[in-house]
Amino acid sequence: MATQRILDFLATRRPDGPCLVVDLDVVRDNYLAFERALPDSRIYYAVKANPAPQILRLLTSLGSSFDTASVAEIEMALDAGATPDRISYGNTIKKERDIARAFALGIRLFAVDSTEEVEKISRAAPGSKVFCRVLTDGAGAEWPLSRKFGCVPAMAVDVLRRAKQLGLEPYGVSFHVGSQQTDLSAWDRALSDARMVFAALADEGIVLRMVNMGGGFPTRYLRDVPEAQAYGQAIFSSLRKHFGNRIPETIIEPGRGMVGNAGVIKSEVVLISKKADNDNVRWVYLDIGKFGGLAETMDEAIRYPLVTRHDGSETTPCVLAGPTCDSADVLYEKTPYPLPVSLTIGDEVLIEGTGAYTTTYASVAFNGFEPLRSYVI
Ligand SMILES: *Cc1c(COP(=O)(O)O)cnc(C)c1O
Repeated sequence: MATQRILDFLATRRPDGPCLVVDLDVVRDNYLAFERALPDSRIYYAVKANPAPQILRLLTSLGSSFDTASVAEIEMALDAGATPDRISYGNTIKKERDIARAFALGIRLFAVDSTEEVEKISRAAPGSKVFCRVLTDGAGAEWPLSRKFGCVPAMAVDVLRRAKQLGLEPYGVSFHVGSQQTDLSAWDRALSDARMVFAALADEGIVLRMVNMGGGFPTRYLRDVPEAQAYGQAIFSSLRKHFGNRIPETIIEPGRGMVGNAGVIKSEVVLISKKADNDNVRWVYLDIGKFGGLAETMDEAIRYPLVTRHDGSETTPCVLAGPTCDSADVLYEKTPYPLPVSLTIGDEVLIEGTGAYTTTYASVAFNGFEPLRSYVI
């Protein structure tokens, strides 16, 4: 949310144009909350959520590890001071030459979800540890993941067996329960699948060591979400239930939950108009939209809290749209957004909870609008 430090920064620096301001104190608090909630799990921050160097350096100093999806993200984590043993290459879709470059940079932990990918890794990163991602249904998540990543648990057994045959170290199982997951039981279903893979391979003498429980930890938008502590308790009791007193090493990979609530976007109203005199819905156009960093409003999935200087006064339903010349650049229309009647052209609008998945999703220069600027304070 807009912390006093963020408000002070905006008041004194008065940056022109839309921009994101991230408060590192909030990132630090989030990291410490995850550490307290799951004290036995290692934290691998999902770099894609917000790779700002200041964030990566802070998390390195706090002891975080990093989940990366490309050689460029690996290099960002290394530049921030993380050693290669604290970095996993967590994308299941990698070119063989990128695997080789990661291996040359010292990376030894790779995600897979197919025997085809295992074969690439055995050639380009011999002897490395691999973990196999299993599918989850994503139920309960506001930004669910499709069937793009993971395989069924029975296939994960084949994948990890193949890894062993090819001289790799079959290290564990991973899953991602879907982003902005507010159903605490989602991890329980996935841990039950992970346990099946552990058991099937143990019968063949292959001992897995690690469960990567992914991301999905939510940030607060318009509705309250459970605290990190509640997630920690639910996950720990599921680990006990499925693994008894032989709980393996565990990893979590928070992205949104680490940085989402640390950032606020400052934007400005460019135009307020109607489509007909008797329309009761106003169209409010901001200087930022889907192509400026608010891509997660796709299908109106993520609804950000908006703050204006008129809050508390009478509101009317508004369609909210961005400034570009693409008709897809509408943020909320199916469910209009109530905004103050007194809101006028030129007013500032703060978009809260925008620390994750905004700068990285902004287009390079669609219609000539520059990518989302960001200040980390
Ligand atoms: C994106 C991603 C994450 C982070 O997900 P959040 O829902 O933002 O916490 C974690 N792990 C993997 C493999 C990812 O791709």
